[in-house]
Amino acid sequence: MTEVSVAKEDVAATGDLVVLKSVNKHFGALHVLQDIDLTIARGEVVVVIGPSGSGKSTLCRTINRLETIDSGSITIDGKPLPHEGKELARLRADVGMVFQSFNLFAHKTVLENVMLGQVKVRKKDKKTAEERARALLDRVGVGAQAEKYPAQLSGGQQQRVAIARALAMEPKVMLFDEPTSALDPEMINEVLEVMQQLAREGMTMIVVTHEMGFARSAANRVVFMADGRIVEQASPDQFFSNPRSDRAKDFLSKIL
Ligand code: ADP
Ligand code: MG
Repeated sequence: MTEVSVAKEDVAATGDLVVLKSVNKHFGALHVLQDIDLTIARGEVVVVIGPSGSGKSTLCRTINRLETIDSGSITIDGKPLPHEGKELARLRADVGMVFQSFNLFAHKTVLENVMLGQVKVRKKDKKTAEERARALLDRVGVGAQAEKYPAQLSGGQQQRVAIARALAMEPKVMLFDEPTSALDPEMINEVLEVMQQLAREGMTMIVVTHEMGFARSAANRVVFMADGRIVEQASPDQFFSNPRSDRAKDFLSKIL
């Protein structure tokens, strides 16, 4: 019996990568995250959807501590989120984040953008960092753009560089907050394909997106948020064909 319970604990320790327990967050009078309980397993792809203003971005931002929380707890790979300093920088590196706006350093080349964090935070030597950066840029299909500056690239290319930059830090989990919302339509697929590939390779991913095709094909689970709460969670099949809550039904009727 003892052996069984030890084995179970081992599974829990290695299985759950991101765990939020009773997380609450206010902006002044606005209760933006309300008792959020969310567990994401290693290798799982979770798509977060919901109306504008429901707290999706804030949720992402609390997970790598761009925002503090008022109560509850967040652990990444069993470790609570540190408050500041070097440990926080390291944790942020464990949690790769890709935003709607590409957030590349405008005055650095594409290559330098992907090398920077590896050298400063991960303490890699420049040669190792450059090799890894070039390999990642090739992988996301922008290897030929390495010496250019971000402004010389299309939006889709810049977003793929942003993904390469996050991957360069060897993150345990990748957060994507509407990564294709600012892109011209013809560039959306090239970014989604890179994300699909990552998902297939087993990366743990939390993806806020309105791309329901991506949700259907890549997500293990859909989390539906409204008014700061997780209203419903289900497999994509179940969620899209048979949403349980009125809020989800209403939302889906507007977007599908
Ligand atoms: P979503 O990403 O689902 O659209 P957000 O997390 O961006 O939602 O925002 C949730 C709510 O919190 C919105 O009402 C928004 O106006 C508010 N909000 C977001 N960031 C801040 C902030 N820094 N200060 C005050 N209110 C904020
Ligand atoms: Mg948002």
